[in-house]
Amino acid sequence: MGNGKLLRPFGVMIDGRVERGLEIQLDEAGRITHIGPQSGMPNLNILSPAFVNAHSHLEYRGMLGQITGGDFFSFLRQITALKPEESPDYIEAMCLRAAQENFNTGVAMIGEHTDRPGSAKAMKQVGLLGMLFQEAITSNARGEEQEKLEFVAEKARGAYAESHLPTHVNPHAAYTVDPNSLRFLAEQNTPASIHCAEHTIENDFIARGEGAIADFRREQGVDVKPLGRSVVAFLNELGFLRPTTQLVHCCDLDDEDISLIAKSGSSIAHCPRSNTFLHCKPARIREFLTAGITVGLGMDSPATGDHIDFFAEMRAALQTSRERGKPVTAEEIWQMATTWGAKSLGTPNWEIKVGNRIPLIEIDVELALETEDILERGTPEAVNWILTSSEAVS
Ligand SMILES: [Zn+2]
Repeated sequence: MGNGKLLRPFGVMIDGRVERGLEIQLDEAGRITHIGPQSGMPNLNILSPAFVNAHSHLEYRGMLGQITGGDFFSFLRQITALKPEESPDYIEAMCLRAAQENFNTGVAMIGEHTDRPGSAKAMKQVGLLGMLFQEAITSNARGEEQEKLEFVAEKARGAYAESHLPTHVNPHAAYTVDPNSLRFLAEQNTPASIHCAEHTIENDFIARGEGAIADFRREQGVDVKPLGRSVVAFLNELGFLRPTTQLVHCCDLDDEDISLIAKSGSSIAHCPRSNTFLHCKPARIREFLTAGITVGLGMDSPATGDHIDFFAEMRAALQTSRERGKPVTAEEIWQMATTWGAKSLGTPNWEIKVGNRIPLIEIDVELALETEDILERGTPEAVNWILTSSEAVS
């Protein structure tokens, strides 16, 4: 960029609140050098750190509207059946489209779960920051688990070569990866993002050896044994609960699970629209925040999460928390959508503060006095980029 910028918005998002009367000076590298009282007429926009989509699957963009609902297990079966029908070119095109739609809704960073190639290239092309989690699924490997992990590692190397973003081999979930491979992956001590207790059938399977997943495995001839502990307790035993681990969904947690996660410093990615679509229990976000857990907001997969619109996701977070009678505030949701989401992906200081150099957006919603006004009225069309990720990162 040229000679720096002086920004004089109607409001500036600081700690999730709309602060009025401030102007922000950026130097020519895009670093915030000064925040002070306004010395002239403001525009009508709201300045915010760009959004962070804490949990994403770009590659399922082509399945938007294809899944017919039903229960969680039926969703797993449907997505498994649809995947082989998509060609590599189509997947690549859909990843690019989804990445562009993330950018359009003000997202600069994503926590991307990837299986088939496409996301890495799309993230690079659109300029999305973040981390790539190359998903390992070994539950159907039938004695060839090690080979499967090597194949996944090869894909991860390919994703890194295409994106130059941190890329890690990562268990898709505790119920889709065999215990030996889970142990092996935990020992690598690399950042991880794991689908965890998304639906009650996960704890049914892991803790009690019953329910739809257990029945399915038994039909395949697998000897299913109950572990007698929750998914979270199991992941903790394996060594996965640590500050560099993000647990995705966490809809079916008891108090003990919450306290284990809080002690470990692991974070949680909350995906309210996907959870509602799949009839998951409403995640206990109020309790997570009270326990001191870092929570990020994610749009998950378009197969279950609807159109890529981060404002719709924020509204869903507000609504679902109110419906369960333990509301979180719009300000907390804004933090999940920005600073806390970035933290859950290993990036601190994603906030408007002197010295920081982060992607910035302005949102064109007139006379938004409160954060909730922006949640209510924000749309992707209202987003203007002030500093893109390629401008904000050297
Ligand atoms: Zn997911």
